[in-house]
Amino acid sequence: MESMSCDVLVVGGGMVGAAIAAVLGQTGFEVIVLEKHLPAPFDAQSAHDLRVSALSLSSQGVLEAVGAWPRLAAMRICPFRRMRVWDQGGRGETNFDAALLGEPVLGHIVENRLVQQALLDVLRELDTVRVIEGAVPERLEVGAEQAIVHLTDGRRLRARLVVGADGAGSRLRELAGLGMSARDYDMHAFVASVRTAQGQQDITWQRFTPQGPQALLPLGGPHASLVWYDTPATVARLEQLDDEALIDTFERHFPSELGRIEAIERRGHFALRRMHVHDYVAPRVALAGDAAHTIHPLAGQGVNLGFLDAAALAEVIHTARTEGRDIGSMRVLRRYERWRKADNHLMQTGMDVFHHVFRPQNLPLRLVRNLGLTLAERLKPIKALSLRHATGRRPFLPRLAYGLALESLEGRGAPCLE
Ligand SMILES: Cc1cc2nc3c(=O)[nH]c(=O)nc-3n(C[C@H](O)[C@H](O)[C@H](O)COP(=O)(O)OP(=O)(O)OC[C@H]3O[C@@H](n4cnc5c(N)ncnc54)[C@H](O)[C@@H]3O)c2cc1C
Repeated sequence: MESMSCDVLVVGGGMVGAAIAAVLGQTGFEVIVLEKHLPAPFDAQSAHDLRVSALSLSSQGVLEAVGAWPRLAAMRICPFRRMRVWDQGGRGETNFDAALLGEPVLGHIVENRLVQQALLDVLRELDTVRVIEGAVPERLEVGAEQAIVHLTDGRRLRARLVVGADGAGSRLRELAGLGMSARDYDMHAFVASVRTAQGQQDITWQRFTPQGPQALLPLGGPHASLVWYDTPATVARLEQLDDEALIDTFERHFPSELGRIEAIERRGHFALRRMHVHDYVAPRVALAGDAAHTIHPLAGQGVNLGFLDAAALAEVIHTARTEGRDIGSMRVLRRYERWRKADNHLMQTGMDVFHHVFRPQNLPLRLVRNLGLTLAERLKPIKALSLRHATGRRPFLPRLAYGLALESLEGRGAPCLE
């Protein structure tokens, strides 16, 4: 049966896996990407996908450095310059503006599939990267010099390092025996791509209600993505409504900022789960993105953390090679884990605090959250600090993946890795 070898095997060619492959492939590593389903090609006439993300400036930096950003921009992206957050029935409100950071935008709303497509297009032009579609890992064998992944179609892939970027249900995580802690939120996200009577918008907004947040993310032109977080039972009821009844329900329950909805283009829902692996790495194995951690999406940070993982992992592997070390050794891989685990944990915990503080209707907590939003609005240094964090700026950003984009992000390079 066929057997192929490479330096790094990336299982999962989603946004995070394809980004890791692009950075490594461009720095001369031989990479194989194993992807279960490649995305359908872009069709400018198609409705916007349901799976969209608010990409931070730092994620944009990674995509720019590998050359995927112009390809994505040539398909569909929507910049946003402002964010508004407020509490229904209270006085607390915070407004963020890109001008506070001296940036032209705070980020872009993008369709996940198109980000993946833009990265895969970059990979197709690299002699160092091969993309295999269809087969998935069945068994993992770890040896002293290499790991062997046995695929469901009988092929074997040999690599010095295997990266699991195969999403929340990661098969590689399971095969490597990496344990995790997980908890379901008692909340689902109902998502609808809609066409509104308003034209192109440059603001994302989020309103907190006792049932859960409601949000609008602008897409190109008069299109927008609406997110309604609520109990699984309520979301199931929303799913039952026909388009006309759903439009009526949105208009009755969403804030007036939404304006009139002219059509529902797509709809669906997602169960929400927090998950974090205990260890990001095992001998010759590293996990990144949703394979390592999932987070409440209310602040739109999931894939942004994943891109930071991708950049950090690529930098650690690259540094190890220049130092003549084994890229699959625990000594090297623990550097990556130390770099990313605490940051991801901090963001997960921050989202949990939001989730819990903004739901209850009891008076003391309501006062606390309104005070919090008011202070965030008035205390400019705190506002700027939280905005910097949300846009992905960290004291230490990996140099390699950000390349030239680093300067504009004001990163200071890798922390002490030992
Ligand atoms: C409602 C909602 C809204 C969100 N909004 C935002 C947001 O605004 N901003 C943000 O940053 N994040 C957001 N997220 C989170 C974001 O979608 C995820 O963090 C992101 O998709 C993770 O990317 P990934 O590449 O790690 O995993 P995935 O996107 O899950 O990609 C995994 C890839 O691996 C492939 N694969 C799976 N299993 C196998 C296998 N066995 N073999 C080979 N290939 C395999 C899959 O086909 C897929 O291509 C949101 C999530 C939800 C649910």
